[in-house]
Amino acid sequence: MSKEYTIPACSGMKIDIKQGQSITVIDIEGGQVVDFFAEVNGNANEFLSTGVTIDCNESLKLNIGDIIYTNLYHPMMKVLSDDVGEHDMLHPCCRREMYEFFYHNGGEHPNCFDNINRVLEEQRAIITPVNLFMHTKINTDGSISVEEPISKAGDKIVLKALMDITLGVAACSVSESKCNSGRCSSVKIVVD
Ligand SMILES: [Zn+2]
Repeated sequence: MSKEYTIPACSGMKIDIKQGQSITVIDIEGGQVVDFFAEVNGNANEFLSTGVTIDCNESLKLNIGDIIYTNLYHPMMKVLSDDVGEHDMLHPCCRREMYEFFYHNGGEHPNCFDNINRVLEEQRAIITPVNLFMHTKINTDGSISVEEPISKAGDKIVLKALMDITLGVAACSVSESKCNSGRCSSVKIVVD
């Protein structure tokens, strides 16, 4: 039986997933980034690692068939299908300090770092999720630029859980840049 979760704009959600279940992440309106973090169910010390994922897949990009790994190099999820093909594995969650650094408005700004820590009831010092649908252009000289997502309304990525995991996900709160096309919207997750 499938379960549907809607994550309102600028907020986060915790979702428990069993090994073998599929996770469909849907960009409802298009152009919206999803900060997608996970940990091994019952063990907060083993969690999704973008660095290890980049290492094992030998790629800065996430492609169909690729595995997302934990910090202990265990296969965590597999990409089954993907309408978009542009996801970011470089940037940490947006946080008050980031808003302060770039926009001088960190004070009460909603942010993915606090949203994910809150739903997981944790106080991680930094969270580097897979930023689904985030379009980071990587240039040959190593410079990067964050562009508008190419995801259209209803576009989705489907992942399969390879272990029992707990998701901590957030609909990203940045409205100040092209990151979320200049506005924040809701996203949907279907588990089955
Ligand atoms: Zn964010």
